[in-house]
Amino acid sequence: MNICMVGAGYVGLVSAACFSEFGWTVTCVDKDPQRLAELNAGKSPIYEPGLDDLMQRNMQAGRLVFSDNIGAAAKDADVILLAVGTPMRRGDGYADLSYVYAAVDEIAPHLNGFTVIVTKSTVPVGTSREIESRLRSARPDAEFAICSNPEFLREGSAIGDFMHPDRVLVGTDDDRAEEIMARLYKPLALRSAPVVFVGRESAELAKYAANAFLALKISFINEVADLCEQVGANVQEVASAIGKDRRIGDKFLHPGPGYGGSCFPKDVSALIRTAREHKSPVSIIEQVQRVNDERKISMAHRIEAAAGGSVRGKTIAILGVTFKPNTDDMRDAPSLVIVPMLQERGATVRVVDPQGRKQADPLLPGVVWCDNALEAAVGADVLVTVTEWNEFRGLDLTAAKAKMRGDVLVDLRNVYSPELAHAAGLTYSGIGTTVSVPR
Ligand code: NAD
Repeated sequence: MNICMVGAGYVGLVSAACFSEFGWTVTCVDKDPQRLAELNAGKSPIYEPGLDDLMQRNMQAGRLVFSDNIGAAAKDADVILLAVGTPMRRGDGYADLSYVYAAVDEIAPHLNGFTVIVTKSTVPVGTSREIESRLRSARPDAEFAICSNPEFLREGSAIGDFMHPDRVLVGTDDDRAEEIMARLYKPLALRSAPVVFVGRESAELAKYAANAFLALKISFINEVADLCEQVGANVQEVASAIGKDRRIGDKFLHPGPGYGGSCFPKDVSALIRTAREHKSPVSIIEQVQRVNDERKISMAHRIEAAAGGSVRGKTIAILGVTFKPNTDDMRDAPSLVIVPMLQERGATVRVVDPQGRKQADPLLPGVVWCDNALEAAVGADVLVTVTEWNEFRGLDLTAAKAKMRGDVLVDLRNVYSPELAHAAGLTYSGIGTTVSVPR
């Protein structure tokens, strides 16, 4: 099977590498010359564990090639997958489909023989139909079918998620396309991954519904955490107790500084827009969005309170700025709200992140970059964990305290136990527990 993957970002590149691992021949196309240069040198332009190895192996076997020539790749393809970005449109919060439609216009002249065109990008319900009519008018002679195949992988564990998915979801109303999509995913089906065929609208909407539901779980546990702090409960105990109920499940019940990343904020926003447009508002999700926006701001206030009511003239050490660990992705990271608020209020902010510096540097002007957590702690009045990278879990808090000017630890990810913090002489402020001081 010949595959053309359009877009070599977090989804396109991982999917292209994984499809080539199945034995398919994949041409992954991208427009960005710098990205292509890195790819052709066998180096992933994004940080994703295991990706360099997977890419290199399949490039050497001749199954994975990178190109800027979308026409040549589309002409030979049985399946063209669109994995370009669908960011939040500025001003109105809709999904910006300009990259998707630009890619569709670029492939149109080159379609050759029956081709399945697949949206892997997250696109609002109705987009497959819109792509179909656009292509029909550009190429009334061409034979093609449009499928929706939303991607559910998570950055940081993307290869594992792709290779062992909870389900592969394919929206199609064309028998020939269904057969080809079944063949494409057969290597996963053989390993018992459920490959589920549904209507195109259902597939498109399911992706948004899934992300909105996960965002809801996060906002829910964040509000429960706030309540825990007021009533003397411990959110980890509450989350563990409710998570054992299989109707609820124990995933996504970790309180923190609010969700961020390349998907939840924009997908929640786009779902709200679609629902309003169809006069069927998802009011519960509108509230999730409000709670999350306020959450990030309240985290800066929390740090301010922990610093004694003001951060003016104080030094704050921030551990982790990416939206979650094991990625370099900074899109909509909570740190992008928290750090500037602290700076505006007069704080000096020292920052460390194992992989995020390159992307974060232009987004966080004025911070002092450090190479490790202990260096970040130097002269700090408050130490704050914003992203729970594994290397911070092992931080020697006694050594960190010795470098600090102050003695406050604000743990926005509940990485450390209060006892450990107290043993190091630190006052501990976690999420969903009361602030506690060393005896
Ligand atoms: P990304 O921004 O990392 O990558 C998009 C890539 O497409 C870029 O490299 C860009 O240069 C390239 N591109 C844009 N237009 C092109 C064109 N016409 N021809 C060739 N290349 C082109 O985006 P991403 O994070 O991989 O997300 C892609 C889609 O997948 C989005 O719709 C997103 O919502 C969805 N998604 C993302 C994730 C995730 O974890 N990042 C998970 C599931 C779904």
